[in-house]
Amino acid sequence: AKADGGGIFRNFEPAFEQEQLRIRRTEQELLRALERGELTVLYQPQVDVETERIVGFEALVRWDHPTRGRLLPGVFVPIAERSRLITRIDAFVLRRACADAKLLTGVTLSVNLSPINLRAAGIADDILATLRETGFDPNRLELEITESALIDPGAAMPLNRLRESGIRLALDDFGTGHASLVHVRRYPITKIKVDRSFIMNLGIQRDAASIVEYVVRLGRSLGVTVTAEGVETREQLRFLRAFGAHHAQGYLFSPPLPLEAAVKLLECQRSG
Ligand code: C2E
Ligand code: CA
Ligand code: CA
Ligand code: CA
Repeated sequence: AKADGGGIFRNFEPAFEQEQLRIRRTEQELLRALERGELTVLYQPQVDVETERIVGFEALVRWDHPTRGRLLPGVFVPIAERSRLITRIDAFVLRRACADAKLLTGVTLSVNLSPINLRAAGIADDILATLRETGFDPNRLELEITESALIDPGAAMPLNRLRESGIRLALDDFGTGHASLVHVRRYPITKIKVDRSFIMNLGIQRDAASIVEYVVRLGRSLGVTVTAEGVETREQLRFLRAFGAHHAQGYLFSPPLPLEAAVKLLECQRSG
């Protein structure tokens, strides 16, 4: 920092340094969080659009910070991705979710995989080893990846290997990246998840309905499952039904739940 501190840097530099400091501190705390078991996993139901019955759960990580309280992934996943801690976080979530999901019988388990991890050598082997060790059926697992993970041609090998082992592959946040269609055809993608930003505007913005209708039709014609994320209203669900979307996920059905609550919800559905 400049000693006399004139001009715009006077305000900018300390803020920048503070931000760097905050990131470094969060990194150190994250490492400790992994060691002390401060990370937990919640499960959000995904339902069949027609019947509204649960077909799967998405595992979503949370950090129970000793002083800052429960933190959302938006606060720490980007920092973890910079420092490679994301490898350990995703490995932890996968292992925990596979162990937990033995209680979530008869439905799919979806787990997020950071693009950083898809690039790591031996990623497919590591994932398959975790499934073996936890005794989890690969046919019940779905990995959610984003379009940015597919820009790298190196993604083809691990993805093909995972798909050949029975694991399903969902393209997350669909519609927010580039060249998505090409990727759905080039990789063994089995599902697209239409991004919440489109669902949010159904019934509000005329264009949103056209876009979602188009994406659903496209997905169906490519033979993949179409899931809508962030469904919050009955009206949105009506649009999705009319367009022929397969699955939906969102607060209309349930927020992400602790394992026990997710198990109860599933049991409730079975008995009711
Ligand atoms: P995502 O994969 O798109 O997950 C869906 C996010 O939308 C979740 O936020 C979920 O709680 C939220 N959501 C679900 N239904 C609704 C709704 O009706 N309305 C609104 N407004 N939001 C809804 P969350 O749990 O904060 O996760 C944010 C992002 O963090 C995820 O977005 C995903 O990209 C990432 N993430 C979460 N868990 C993991 C993980 O274990 N590994 C990695 N690499 N990323 C993760
Ligand atoms: Ca996801
Ligand atoms: Ca998503
Ligand atoms: Ca999203």
